[in-house]
Amino acid sequence: MDFTLSSEERAIRDWVRTFVDREIRPLEAEALRRERKGDRALTREEMQDLQDKARRAGFWGVLTPEEYGGMGLGAVMAALMEVELGRSFIPFRFGGYADNILFHANDEQRERYLRPTIEGVRRSCFAITEPGAGSDAKAIRTSARQDGSDWVINGEKTFITGGHEADFALVFAVTDRERGADGGVTCFIVDRDMGWRSEPIDTMGEWGPAALVLDEVRVPGSSVLGEVGQGFALAMQWIGQGRYLLPARALGACERLVEMAVEQANNRVTFGQPLAERQAIQWMVADSAVEIEALRWLVLHAAWLVDQRADSRHAQSMAKLYGGIKANEIVDRVLQIHGGMGYTRELPVERWYRELRLLRIYEGTDEIQRRTIARNLVKGHVSVRGSLG
Ligand SMILES: Cc1cc2nc3c(=O)[nH]c(=O)nc-3n(C[C@H](O)[C@H](O)[C@H](O)COP(=O)(O)OP(=O)(O)OC[C@H]3O[C@@H](n4cnc5c(N)ncnc54)[C@H](O)[C@@H]3O)c2cc1C
Repeated sequence: MDFTLSSEERAIRDWVRTFVDREIRPLEAEALRRERKGDRALTREEMQDLQDKARRAGFWGVLTPEEYGGMGLGAVMAALMEVELGRSFIPFRFGGYADNILFHANDEQRERYLRPTIEGVRRSCFAITEPGAGSDAKAIRTSARQDGSDWVINGEKTFITGGHEADFALVFAVTDRERGADGGVTCFIVDRDMGWRSEPIDTMGEWGPAALVLDEVRVPGSSVLGEVGQGFALAMQWIGQGRYLLPARALGACERLVEMAVEQANNRVTFGQPLAERQAIQWMVADSAVEIEALRWLVLHAAWLVDQRADSRHAQSMAKLYGGIKANEIVDRVLQIHGGMGYTRELPVERWYRELRLLRIYEGTDEIQRRTIARNLVKGHVSVRGSLG
């Protein structure tokens, strides 16, 4: 069993590490100042500048196939890069990406949506959740009825990331109520100027998703992504893609947070001794370090299975569940070690405390991951002996 990185993996990982240290972390103090005033950490232009800088060095489209100009890297490499990016709270990601399901686009859709999205010219959002259907995505009620060669969509979507900024949405709608998720849900690519409206939703994080309203929105038949009736499988493919990347990012945050906690514990003296000398503090640091290490291998194992084209769903659910729970416990301990300063908005700890909470909710809540994991076990699809058998 070989746990070492190849020289290429190490070189790429180290480049990202240096990029984060030199280009991203210096922006943090200003980003915190802006967010305290209710502004975004980075303007769109600043994000673009950073992405352009990375692109000039060849870092663009991490998972995007080379035929689209991307790096076409594998999941393990993407996870290693995500860990490095997670070490800063600045919401940077490399340019050159598109929703994975957009690669199912036909020739016309490819030119109109996929390529411009990869180039950063157009912005998409993924819209399945509704006020009455979140975890139970099969319960969506947004409908699309056929009218000649067009479809007419009616419904409401909620909590859609990027929904207020997107200029087109991937909307999941019921096209055959009898069949429901089993062949009766279709994905439509719907331009904003076809008539949907959005309203931002305030959240405890630094930026909000949006609610979308589709009221008699008429779209041409050519707006169907993939096949009519195959939308639910596409939705599951979209949701399944990030379950190792989200905890990878949280892992990077946890590494940085524990480094901050160690520094604080070494410097802060109470009752004549540094906090670092206290067993109560040492145990928090020790438990966090063990959990970080466990999370690292859960994430990398899940990513490795993706690269092997093996069934990675169980491993991804475990990484997502463990990452969500442990990242929240770790940030709470780190805030505690910082005392009152941890609670202020001068440090990023408080920001991470709010942001990491989301990991236990979106792209499958803790309970839904547990449901998946338990079902796989009780039905005998997997064994607790893991992938080594
Ligand atoms: C900031 C943010 C961004 C998001 N981005 C997107 C996006 O881009 N696109 C999109 O489509 N959606 C998005 N979502 C929606 C997100 O995926 C849902 O919020 C999530 O799936 C949970 O659904 P819900 O909020 O309806 O909660 P519910 O499904 O109502 O669940 C409420 C609680 O009950 C629990 N629960 C539900 N069913 C069971 C069960 N069977 N057994 C035990 N417990 C259960 C849940 O785990 C949860 O704790 C986003 C959400 C947020 C907050």
